[in-house]
Amino acid sequence: MALSVLAHRDELGVGQGRLFIDGSWREGSEGAVWTHIHPASNEEVTTFATASGADVDAAVQAARRAFDDGRWTSLKAKDRKRLLQRVAQLIADHADELDRLQTLDNGMPVSFSSIYQVSSHIAADVFDYHAGWVDRIAGETIPQYTGSDMFTMTLREPVGVVAAIIPWNAPLLLFAQKAAPALAAGCTVVLKPSEYASLTAFRLTELLEQAGLPPGVFNLVAGEGSVTGEALITHPLIDKITFTGSRAVGRRILAAAADGIKRVSLELGGKSPNIVFPDIADPDLTAAAMMGMVSMGLSGQGCVCHTRALIHQDIYDEMIDKLATMAGMCVLGDPFDPATTSGPLINTRQLERVTGYIEQGREEGARLVVGGDRPDGELAQGNFVNPTLFADVDNRMTIAREEIFGPVLAAIPFKDEEEAIRLANDTDYGLGASVQTSDVKRALRIAKAVRSGTFGINGFTVMPNAPFGGYKTSGLGREGGREGIDAFLETKTVNIGLSDAAF
Ligand code: NAD
Repeated sequence: MALSVLAHRDELGVGQGRLFIDGSWREGSEGAVWTHIHPASNEEVTTFATASGADVDAAVQAARRAFDDGRWTSLKAKDRKRLLQRVAQLIADHADELDRLQTLDNGMPVSFSSIYQVSSHIAADVFDYHAGWVDRIAGETIPQYTGSDMFTMTLREPVGVVAAIIPWNAPLLLFAQKAAPALAAGCTVVLKPSEYASLTAFRLTELLEQAGLPPGVFNLVAGEGSVTGEALITHPLIDKITFTGSRAVGRRILAAAADGIKRVSLELGGKSPNIVFPDIADPDLTAAAMMGMVSMGLSGQGCVCHTRALIHQDIYDEMIDKLATMAGMCVLGDPFDPATTSGPLINTRQLERVTGYIEQGREEGARLVVGGDRPDGELAQGNFVNPTLFADVDNRMTIAREEIFGPVLAAIPFKDEEEAIRLANDTDYGLGASVQTSDVKRALRIAKAVRSGTFGINGFTVMPNAPFGGYKTSGLGREGGREGIDAFLETKTVNIGLSDAAF
C-alpha cells in the first residue's frame, strides 16, 4: 500500500491557512496560494494563502501602529508577562497536536518531533522562560565620571517592529525562539514561516490570538522568500530583522538591512566537528549518538548536526565499523509510524542536492562505507536517502566543507590533539562542536581552542536559558539566555542635571 499522510491531515483538522494581520485572518490580496506537498509521499496536503507586497505592507503598518501607540510597549510588566505565560500554557495544552502538525509540515518522524529540543515542550518553555524576563528588563545607574553634578541612568527599550523569518526544519522551536524574546522585550512582530512548513505557524498564531495579544502585536505572513520575504526585509518601517536559515539568504538580509541600518540577528548553517579520542567510556554509545545525530529525525537536516567525525587513528577502524552498524539500524518510513526513526528530505530539490553531494564525495575519492542510495518500494515515492557514511575523507573535500543538509557523515582520521583542533577549526562555519573523551583537562583545552558558538563535552543540547548562535559565517548574535533578550533591546542613556546649568 502506498504511503499516505492524508488521514493524519484530516484527523488534525488542517484546513486552508490564511494570513493573520492586525488581529484578523484574511486571504492574500492577490489570491496567491502555496500548495503544501508532504516530503514523505509527495502528496498535496493543503493550500494556504501567501502574502503579496501589499499584504506585507499591511502587516508591517499594523505592527508599526501597535508599537507606536504603546498598546504593547506600555503594558504593565505583570500583564505582558501573564499574556506570554498564557501562550506557554496553551502550547503545552496542545502539545501532542502541535508535534503531529510538525510531522505533517516537514516530515519529521513523530518519534523525534516529541523529543524535547525540537518539540512543542521546548516551544512552551521558550515562551515561559522569556515571560520571566518581562519584569526583569532594567537599566543601570552610572557613577559620575567628571564635570558638574549629574544623575545618569540607562533605560532598556524595545527595538521596535521586528521582521522574523524562519526555516522549515524546526518550526515549533524556531517560531518560539523568534516571537517569545521579541514580544517579551516589548517589540511588535511580523513573522514569515518557511513556505515548506507553515502549518505549525498557523496553529501557533491561533494560540497567540487565543491568549489575548492585542491586535497588530503579532502578525503572520506566509509565502515565498522571493516575494513575501523580500517585501518584509526591504520594508522601511521594520527596525530589526531576525533570521534563521541559509548563509545565502543571510547575506541577502545583511545587504537589505544596510539601507535603513536595520538591526540584524542571523542564525545560519554549520559544518560541526565531533572529535573522538580513544579513551571514550562507551564506544558503542558514542557511535550511536554520532550517527544518530546525522541520520535520525530529520535525516541530517539540522543546523547543529555534527557532520564531520574527527576520529583518533588508534580507534578509527573500530569506530568506522560501529558507525556503519548504527547507520544500518535506522528505520526509514512513514513519519507518523512511531517505529520510524528517520524522515525524508524536505523537497525534491533538496533530494537532488544531497545525492549530488554524495556523488561528488565518491568522485573526490572518499570511501563510501554505507548508504549513498535511496530506499525502494513505497518509500521511493518520498524524498528519502539512506544514512550515508564516508570514511577517509580529506578536510579539503567538498563533503567536508559544505553544509549538505542530509544524512551524510564524513569521517576524518587524526593523530593528536593539535591536529584535531586544526581540523575542527579549518571551516568557514562555527555553530557547534563536540569532543568525546574521559580526559577533563583535554576536553576543556579543546573547548577553549575550537571556535564555535556551542561546544559539547560528551553531550550536546539546546536550552531556552542558554545562548545559542554562531561564530564566523554561522551567524550574528545569539538567541536564548540574557543575550537573546538583549538582541531585542536598545539602550538609552538619560542624564539629569542636579544643579541649575549642568553641561
Ligand atoms: P533558507 O535560507 O532557504 O530559507 C529560510 C527562510 O528564509 C524561509 O522562510 C524562506 O522563505 C526565507 N527566504 C528565502 N529567500 C528570502 C529572501 N530573499 N528574503 C527574505 N526571506 C527569504 O533556509 P531553509 O532551507 O529554510 O533552512 C535550512 C537552513 O537553515 C540551513 O542552512 C540551516 O543550517 C539553517 N538553520 C539554522 C539554524 C540555527 O539556529 N543556526 C536553525 C535551523 C536551520
